[in-house]
Amino acid sequence: MPPRFVADCMLGRLAKWLRAFGFDACYAPFADDHGIVAWARQRGAVVLTRDTGFPRPTDVPIIFIQEDDVEKQLGQVVRSVPLDLADARALTRCTVCNRELESATRDQVWDRVPPFVYLTEERYARCLDCGRVYWEGTHAPRIRRRLARLAGSAAGERRRG
Ligand SMILES: [Zn+2]
Repeated sequence: MPPRFVADCMLGRLAKWLRAFGFDACYAPFADDHGIVAWARQRGAVVLTRDTGFPRPTDVPIIFIQEDDVEKQLGQVVRSVPLDLADARALTRCTVCNRELESATRDQVWDRVPPFVYLTEERYARCLDCGRVYWEGTHAPRIRRRLARLAGSAAGERRRG
């Protein structure tokens, strides 16, 4: 079972990228520290925070994110958990609401995609919460490129270490 995450109010972009890789990453912009800890404890999640004053309970793993750049933040998560990028699955989770996507045919989504996409893409994934539709051609290459860069730098660090 891949790890789950809950991100504090400073780390919305990081949560979005973790979702883009298919990991369960809840973003809690309005929760206070205790709310975040309670939620993480209940769901067995890892807390991601930028706040060095965040509580340090012994039973909930906390990652203090130091980097500003989202790719470096992802790198820090990969090293700290550690996260196996082989578990990553692009286009399986909604980047907006964190819900797992359902696969859809083009006739189920024809009114929600641009005409060119309708003509060229056969397989789609959709979020039953927000209705957002995802498809390979536009969304996956960027996610896979970032994933490949991260996997490359994680492997480089293992060699050096
Ligand atoms: Zn959604």
